[in-house]
Amino acid sequence: MAELPIVYVDMDGVMAEFDRGLEGRLLEADPTIDLSDESSDFYLHKRLKTPEAVRMAQAIANMQGFFLGLEPADGLQEGWQRMIAAGFHPIVLSKPLSSNPWCATEKLEWLDGIMGPKVTDEAIIAGSKADFDGAALIDDRPETPGADRATWQQAMFSRPYNLNVATGFRIDSWHDPNLESVLARCALRYSSLFEQPLL
Ligand SMILES: [Mg+2]
Repeated sequence: MAELPIVYVDMDGVMAEFDRGLEGRLLEADPTIDLSDESSDFYLHKRLKTPEAVRMAQAIANMQGFFLGLEPADGLQEGWQRMIAAGFHPIVLSKPLSSNPWCATEKLEWLDGIMGPKVTDEAIIAGSKADFDGAALIDDRPETPGADRATWQQAMFSRPYNLNVATGFRIDSWHDPNLESVLARCALRYSSLFEQPLL
């Protein structure tokens, strides 16, 4: 049997509601914090208006239990099953927050609880996504490091801070009816990388 095309899937902002979790904890700490800017920067702490709020956001994201407590993105499990049904092999590929010593462990524990042991066993919690060979990477980051040298094509998972990125590969949410067709185009592009030139 031919190997199924691998689709790597980012966690924060794609599988897990990182910003919503951080915003909720910030508002608990200080209900007056201005969270109205959702689009100017990928990093939530860079969208905050005061140095105090920035410090608070960084402290919360570095706390034990923060990553474990994040809500799953709406429709995640259904979207995951749709990828499998369409003939893809989804694998979690997530960079841990290096300043939070519990992050990597909590990401795996979160996956085990939300997605089950098979997804968790295959998950890659690593720093450099471009080092991993596959057909697609579903990620919310506007400029994913190494995207120019990676074999995968990034499918941009829409969030307010990446809507200005011009790309032909975009997934609006886990409910996006184009999920399968966008990934199919990624897989087509991937297979074309290895085609033998005609002699
Ligand atoms: Mg992300």
